[in-house]
Amino acid sequence: MKAKEKVYKALKKRFKDRCLTDRLSLVQYSYDATQMMFPPDMVILTENTEEVSYVMEIANRFRVPVVPRGWGSGFTGGALNVNGGICLSLEKMDKVLELDLDNLMVWVQAGMVNYDLQEHVKPYGLFFPPDPSSWKFSTIGGNIAENAGGPRAVKYGVMKDWVKGLEIVLADGSVLNIGSKNIKDVAGYDLVDLIVGSEGTLAVVTKALLKLHPIPEAKKTMQLIFNSMREAAAMVNKIILYGVIPVAIEFVDRFSIKTVKEATGVDLPDADAILIVEVDGSKAEVELDSKKIEELAKKNSSIISFKVAKDEKEAEEVWFARRTISPTLKRIADGKLNEDIVVPRSKLADMIEKLEKISKKYGLPIVNFGHAGDGNIHVNIMYHTDNKEESKKAHLAMNEVFEECIKLGGSITGEHGVGITKQDFLEKQLGTRQVELLKSIKRAFDPNNILNPNKMRL
Ligand SMILES: Cc1cc2nc3c(=O)[nH]c(=O)nc-3n(C[C@H](O)[C@H](O)[C@H](O)COP(=O)(O)OP(=O)(O)OC[C@H]3O[C@@H](n4cnc5c(N)ncnc54)[C@H](O)[C@@H]3O)c2cc1C
Repeated sequence: MKAKEKVYKALKKRFKDRCLTDRLSLVQYSYDATQMMFPPDMVILTENTEEVSYVMEIANRFRVPVVPRGWGSGFTGGALNVNGGICLSLEKMDKVLELDLDNLMVWVQAGMVNYDLQEHVKPYGLFFPPDPSSWKFSTIGGNIAENAGGPRAVKYGVMKDWVKGLEIVLADGSVLNIGSKNIKDVAGYDLVDLIVGSEGTLAVVTKALLKLHPIPEAKKTMQLIFNSMREAAAMVNKIILYGVIPVAIEFVDRFSIKTVKEATGVDLPDADAILIVEVDGSKAEVELDSKKIEELAKKNSSIISFKVAKDEKEAEEVWFARRTISPTLKRIADGKLNEDIVVPRSKLADMIEKLEKISKKYGLPIVNFGHAGDGNIHVNIMYHTDNKEESKKAHLAMNEVFEECIKLGGSITGEHGVGITKQDFLEKQLGTRQVELLKSIKRAFDPNNILNPNKMRL
């Protein structure tokens, strides 16, 4: 019997109906949000750390690839079994293990969905700040592996800012506890920060110790509509320099506004950009911050309209344009190359101008929106999939987007990770020496290259 078959036989015996090998299940676990498909040979639904350790030990001994998986909402193919092997799903490991109100921290299993954690801690007047838009269908383990972020990142940061400790299972099956509840802890290299963002290539995260934050007393949402994208981008820094750190500063560009208007009939002026700014804190802080933003808006001649939402309903209306762009894009074309580049905040307007030039050069619509406060742009190059020429141009255009972004000191990914879709560009951004260093870290953790192999080309 071949080594692989021996492993599968042992796993089947141990996990019984939590070991899936039927065609339908393999298809169900073969894709993520990229729409690519790579079926695993077997799916294991683990329920605890000891089981994860068992799978890793046997897979390592017989050199079978293992791909950890949360809810498969990733945008870069990270959870796909590109070389077959085992799909290690943590979806059943979804419990809160300890809520430590004295230290404002919580231990959770890695398969817990982000939204379920929020609901769990809400009655205690607490929340977990990282809020990827996929929070209702992505797990804490997946959020950690991708170092996910969301609109609240401007004020509260991203996953790495909220993870204090981890229980991890290494490729050889050994279990390690890293980090601690200490606010300050500088003993040794910071392995927690290394694992956060490692895309399931260094270790399987089984438990996470996360910081929590009290829910702010008040919140206000504002809409600033501009006839100049450059001015909208400049406003982001003006707000921050004026002493206001908003929770979120989101933007939509001219193309996005046009698309949303045509698709939904929403009443918006023909404008170059919209900024949605949200502030939170005590009632007094929120009042002061929104007054300051209003002052700045009044001084700015390129602002067509400024509005403060009076209540939750109006706040939802303000968010409408930003939230409906993605689903309306299909009206432009059925094909979409969607990347999450990031540039230093000061370079946001320059990058948008570059994107407009690339759009003209290739004759393809490029729709941009995203997190202006972080310089994080969701670039959507639209093309018709049945048109080979357009499809080729779209890929060439995206290459140019990455090149221009790197030239501006930016990064090819702000939140979705490298996975397989962006692996060709990692070395361009980091350089050969840095990639070599990453490869040696990978070898130290996983000498047999069985843990999520062939991701990030490491
Ligand atoms: C509509 C939509 C909106 C999105 N919005 C955002 C956003 O605002 N911000 C953002 O950052 N992302 C966003 N994403 C991307 C995606 O949701 C995130 O990357 C998320 O963190 C993935 O979580 P998951 O549980 O689905 O992980 P999966 O897709 O299952 O896996 C992603 C990666 O994590 C690894 N992994 C998963 N669990 C573990 C574990 N326990 N241990 C080790 N490795 C593990 C996998 O191997 C894989 O490499 C969005 C996706 C969609 C579809």
